[in-house]
Amino acid sequence: MNEHLREALELVARGVPVLPLREGKGPFGNCPACAKNQCGGRPNMKSAGTCACPRPCHGWAAASSSADVVTSAAWAAAWQRAGAVAYHPGGAGVTVVDLDNADAVAWARDALPPTRTVATTRGEHWIYLGTMQSANGVRPGVDIKSLMAYARWLGPGEGQMIRLPETVTALPRYLVPAGAVASSPVPRATWTRAVASGCRHTERYVRTGLDKGVAMVTGHREQGAASQAFGVARFLGSLHQECPGPCGLETLGGEIVAAAVSVGVPEAYAVRAVDRGFTEAGIPVPSTQMA
Ligand SMILES: [Zn+2]
Ligand SMILES: [Zn+2]
Ligand SMILES: [Zn+2]
Repeated sequence: MNEHLREALELVARGVPVLPLREGKGPFGNCPACAKNQCGGRPNMKSAGTCACPRPCHGWAAASSSADVVTSAAWAAAWQRAGAVAYHPGGAGVTVVDLDNADAVAWARDALPPTRTVATTRGEHWIYLGTMQSANGVRPGVDIKSLMAYARWLGPGEGQMIRLPETVTALPRYLVPAGAVASSPVPRATWTRAVASGCRHTERYVRTGLDKGVAMVTGHREQGAASQAFGVARFLGSLHQECPGPCGLETLGGEIVAAAVSVGVPEAYAVRAVDRGFTEAGIPVPSTQMA
């Protein structure tokens, strides 16, 4: 039995859904019947279909914790050519914060509570108990892999796994610019017309409002800055009530969060203030799923 399959079966024995990865560490391509999703996709996919293909088609959606499926003839060819083993973190009840490089790891050590960590080629996986929506690039070099995603299995890692903290569940909500830390200048603005294809305002109008809002937040310290962040989010959110969207509010929100963080407001607290501001303006806050 090959090494990858043996490893996969150890995971299956612990109830973890697994799938084989190619030499290039990506999922295997779909079989001809599933090519270009012409089968309609599997029932567990976002656009649910009725595909019951026995092969490991459709990436994470094929992940299985059944030893019968994993050792089936339909998966055998993939295992023979596999370059790695992956698992479906959401299916295993966990969330992987995938830190791609040393800078991302340094950020996590500063910003996130310690949990189980696994070394990767250039960075680390931080694994928390509980699931949430997956999202790529929530920060430079940082991806969230949980529901509808796969992560490479690189061993059990070290340390005690803790429950998914709000500092992680809040991350995909706002795109906080890199370098948002206390007592630093607010990082360069990132909101552009490109992230707001459904906004009826001009870029200049939105930027001017945002710059004023950021100045109001950074003109205060700590507690005062958090309530300013709330007020600014409520005001900026209200400007977009009539827009068809998207208006890039996760980017606007991220800049308000960064402004509050720069004057000493803890990030999770700043995120909550912006959440409340957008909510009062009638702007839905993207929900996170806990399980
Ligand atoms: Zn297929
Ligand atoms: Zn299919
Ligand atoms: Zn708008």
